[in-house]
Amino acid sequence: MTIAERLGQVQAEIRAAAIKAGRNPDEVRLVAVSKTRPAGDLLQCYQAGQRIFGENYVQELSAKAGELHEPVEWHFIGHLQSNKVKYIAGLVSMIHSVDRLSLAEEINRQWGRLGRRCDVLVQVNIAGEATKSGTTAQEALDLVRAVSLLPNIRVKGLMTMPPFFDDPAAARPYFAELKRLADMITAENISGVELKELSMGMSGDFEAAIQEGATLVRIGTAIFGERHYT
Ligand SMILES: *Cc1c(COP(=O)(O)O)cnc(C)c1O
Repeated sequence: MTIAERLGQVQAEIRAAAIKAGRNPDEVRLVAVSKTRPAGDLLQCYQAGQRIFGENYVQELSAKAGELHEPVEWHFIGHLQSNKVKYIAGLVSMIHSVDRLSLAEEINRQWGRLGRRCDVLVQVNIAGEATKSGTTAQEALDLVRAVSLLPNIRVKGLMTMPPFFDDPAAARPYFAELKRLADMITAENISGVELKELSMGMSGDFEAAIQEGATLVRIGTAIFGERHYT
């Protein structure tokens, strides 16, 4: 199958999952996760109608942004070091992986220099796994509160990577938990904060994530095929 065909299939599956969950399919946006893929693959995907691309590595993202001249919307979804924020400032329209205040402060500083605002999601390590990045569910509220005071950032929602992401039934309770946490934080009525976006669900479990309220699904393999790391 071509990238265009796989993209079409994933789009159809997303819509079907939304309808099955009694949701409006337009509420679920697809982030095509293009890490390790050459710019040519992204171009094929773009030409088939995809607009949002998610990248995990700063250098790779800047290289591809230089190669690809189409008006794609870049989302940064990987672990982000503060000293690298300056390389993606103004280039990405959303950062899904804000997990600490120091990182948010650097994003605030870099976007501020451009006179712009950056949309971010707070990444939550919902299962509390030692090996994963993300703030804990307990700390998420305090982090959202602190980030909400920074003028050049808007907190739009939460993101998570559950354990067992190839096992939708096992991942589903973590998606439900992220939704519950987002609703709880929104109910705090923090000025300027409404956590509408839930970034959750990957190739192996996006249907379960959509059933639990995902508004952004991050899908790589199902569109581009298996990754080949070199
Ligand atoms: C790689 C990656 C994905 C996509 O994973 P697939 O299983 O290829 O769909 C989603 N989110 C993050 C944060 C990733 O690093």
